[in-house]
This record gives sequence, C-alpha cells and structure tokens, in this order.
Amino acid sequence: MASRVIPVDPFDLVIFGGTGDLARRKILPALFRRFVAGQIEGDVRLIGAARGDMDRDGYRAMARAAITEFGGEESARKKDLTAFLDLLDFVTLDARGTEGWEPLAALMRPDRIRAFYFSVAPALFGDLAKRLHKHGMADERSRIVVEKPFGRDLDTARDLNRTLARHFSEGQIYRIDHYLGKETVQNLMAIRFGNVLFEPLWNSQYVDHIQITVAESVGVGGRGDYYDKSGAMRDMVQNHMMQLLCLIAMEPPAKFEPDAVRDEKLKVIRALDPVARRNVVRGQYEGDGTQPGYRNQVGNRDSTTESFVALKAHISNWRWAGTPFYLRTGKRLRDRASEIAVVFKDAPHSIFGADAGRHRNILTIRLQPNEGIELGVTIKEPGPGGMRLIDVPLDMTFAEALGPEEADFPDAYERLIMDVIRGNQTLFMRGDEVEAAWAWTDPIIADWEEEGATPLDYATGSSGPDDALMLMHRDGRRWREIRP
Ligand code: NAP
Repeated sequence: MASRVIPVDPFDLVIFGGTGDLARRKILPALFRRFVAGQIEGDVRLIGAARGDMDRDGYRAMARAAITEFGGEESARKKDLTAFLDLLDFVTLDARGTEGWEPLAALMRPDRIRAFYFSVAPALFGDLAKRLHKHGMADERSRIVVEKPFGRDLDTARDLNRTLARHFSEGQIYRIDHYLGKETVQNLMAIRFGNVLFEPLWNSQYVDHIQITVAESVGVGGRGDYYDKSGAMRDMVQNHMMQLLCLIAMEPPAKFEPDAVRDEKLKVIRALDPVARRNVVRGQYEGDGTQPGYRNQVGNRDSTTESFVALKAHISNWRWAGTPFYLRTGKRLRDRASEIAVVFKDAPHSIFGADAGRHRNILTIRLQPNEGIELGVTIKEPGPGGMRLIDVPLDMTFAEALGPEEADFPDAYERLIMDVIRGNQTLFMRGDEVEAAWAWTDPIIADWEEEGATPLDYATGSSGPDDALMLMHRDGRRWREIRP
C-alpha cells in the first residue's frame, strides 16, 4: 500500500550554489523525486544562482544531466523530467557583489513561500543573508536553509548565529543535518515513544552501554582540502553523531513539535560531561599499496588531522548516570556501516547455570546500509541437546517488512526540503543546540592542539587503531563488528 502524498503549498526556492556538487548530487535530484511523487506541483519556481555565466537553458541542461546521473530510477521518466525542468530558472550573481540581486528579487512572486538554500561555502552565509534582506527578500514568508559546517568552533558558530539573526528570526533558519532526515533516525523516535515496550527499560538500570558507529570504507577522496581543515571530530561527531546521541538519550518530549524536541536534545548536550583525554582515541589511515594513506591523499605530509575518532561519553543526569556512550567514526574502515546499538544488561540471575553462557539483549538501529531495526533475543537452541541458549535476531529490515515499494524511502534531502516548505523545524538544529555541541567538542580539540600529539596510524580496512579497541576492553566490553 503506497503512502499518501500531500502536495505542499506553492513556493519559490532559490538554490545559491545551484551549480555546485551538493546541488547536482542531492538538491536537484531530491526536488525532482518529490515532483514525480506528486508532492511538488506545477506552480513552483526553482531558481539556481551562482557566479557562473549561464542562462536558463544552460541551467536546465546541467540539471538534466545531474538528475539523470543521480536521480535514481525516476530519472528515466523523460516526460516528468522535461516537466520538472520547466520549473527551473537561473540567475547569475555573486554572494558578495551587487549584480544579479534585483533580477532575483523580480523573479520572486507575491504570496508565495520563499525558501533560500545556502549551498555555498559557509564564509558566504552572512553575505547572502545580508543581501536577501537588503533586496526585500527577507520577509515573513522567507526561510533560509543553511548547510554544514555550522562554524568550526563555538566562537565562529556564535558569530554565524548572530549574523543570521540580524536578518532572519530563529523560526526562519533551517540548519540542516541530513542524518535527521534519515528514515531510521526518525524511526528511533517512533520506536522509543510509540511503544510501551522499550521506554521502561531505557535507562541506566537496564542499559549496560550504548555504541554509536558511523564507519565509512572510503577515504577523503576529492574532499581532502576541506577535510584536512576539519577532521572527524568537526565533520561527524559535533553534528551527526551528536544528533544521534541526543535522540537516543533525550527525555520524551511532551509533543512531537520543533521546540519540544529541540529543548530535550539541548538538555542532553548540556548534561554531557567533559571527556577525559584517556577516553578519546584518534587515528589517521595508512595506505595499503593500492590506495594512498591519509597524508598523501590530502597532500599534507605533516597533517595531524584525524580521520578516525572513538570516545567514551557520559551523560550526567538521572536517566543515564553510569551508562557509557561509546562513539566511533572513521574513514577507510573495514566496511560502510552505521548503527546504534543499545546493549542491555545481563539478566540479574541465570537459572540455566554457567554452561548457558552469557546472553544479552541488544537493540540495533541500522542507519546504513539495509536500514532497519534488530532486536537480539535469547532462546533455547532447538533440539534435544538440553537447555542450551542461543541469541537470535528479531530482524525488521524495512525492505522486507514493508515491501520494496514502501521501503524505498525518500532520501533525507527530499524529506528535509519538504519540511522547509511546510515550515516544520523539528528535524533541524536550533542555534543553541549547535552552540552547546561546539561547547562540548571544543575542549577535546583544544586538548589535542595543546598536546601537539599526532593521531595513531591504522590500517586501511581495519576497525581503527588498537587503542580504540582498548577503550572498550578496559571496561570489559567490546565494539560490535563493523559489518553491513
Ligand atoms: P561546490 O561544489 O564548491 O559548489 C559551490 C557553489 O557555490 C557553486 O555553484 C559555485 O558556483 C557557487 N559559488 C561559489 N562562490 C560564490 C559566490 N561568491 N557567489 C555565489 N555563488 C558562489 O560546493 P558543494 O560541495 O556543493 O558545497 C556547498 C555547501 O554545502 C558547502 O557549505 C558545503 O560545506 C556543504 N555541504 C556539501 C556536501 C557535499 O556532499 N558536496 C555535503 C554536506 C555539506 P560559481 O563558482 O559559479 O559561483
């Protein structure tokens, strides 16, 4: 049974940086797929904007190529594609210049929702906000979508928040973290707050620990320049992993409404203890004969930027005191696999004796690949061999449970862009959340810089540096295997 698609209200959307990598790989294909799904109807204007000298036809040709390459199966629907491309326009402008802004303002229609997607370098966010304001495009119908990274530390994030606040209210600013647009991530909230089964157990009395892994098998690729100035802590932990941690750990909000949810997430971040040096491991991948190591790849022989981080975090509140949260993320690891594992404590007493072994319930939320949820339960091994226990998964791979059609989830960008148009900020980060996240990660980064230590090497295709394994071993625990 296909889910019902409710069309959004007519809108004008400007994509600043409309010719860039993100626009071509994600934003335009996402809009196209929503168009094919019937969520975007004809009365919509989509305007690319960049410095490049391009006209409307040139932009449509570029968009056609991008959607054909990245738009999935739907892009084979030529009639739909042509109809979609008819919605596109292009304006040449410089975020820091004067030309092009009046023509852009002239394209905006009265009584339409106006969305401005800042898909340009963060250094230009303030310039764009200022010019939108100056040219009368920052009114109550307007909203801006701001890409990551949102600052590179607390000070720069605060500056950026202040700059944007001069021209737009908090209710108009959509700070995007595409992890929040993932179906499974939202399912995490549905599972927690839509079932009576889990919430009573969701605390330090029953949960031994929680592991969050975001593992990539690829290296930095062509993003070396950006990545080397950022590193895994800034690129992944401060934003994506922090958001996952918040959704796992937060108290039930009174309502599924933007500020109710974001208030609870903020409380989690503020309850995080500072992380002791011994509880953080960072690494850098080595080459493997066929692929270059990190330093060669980014072209910086002295780079001390980490491509891997593992850490142990504690949340000092009533619910989680004593339950560690282990986070790890890295590139060039064994496989591409992202998951959250809630590892429950042992049963208080085993009636089956020592031979039965140690068995634990683990709830695994798989973000990629094979989005789904799995609950490990202990049962009797079938057969006449006595009371031997084994663990089996109650597996709900969405593609199997829901059928391929239902499980063909909209990409995170599809959902998030539609939320912008609908004016729903629940899945976007609030300014104070971003600042609190930086306030927690800044001292960790400052400690590395002060210490001047280089990251530990780890082999391409491994699970990261051995010290990351030790982080768990010394607590008598183990990371789950990185596997898709
Ligand atoms: P990109 O490929 O370098 O594209 C940048 C775009 O901005 C181009 O369209 C460029 O066109 C335009 N631009 C540059 N300077 C401009 C100016 N002064 N005025 C107006 N337009 C200007 O970058 P990207 O990878 O698409 O990334 C865009 C943003 O998304 C960045 O903030 C990035 O951090 C973020 N992001 C990207 C990804 C990704 O996968 N690519 C993922 C997450 C976040 P002209 O040169 O013709 O002006």
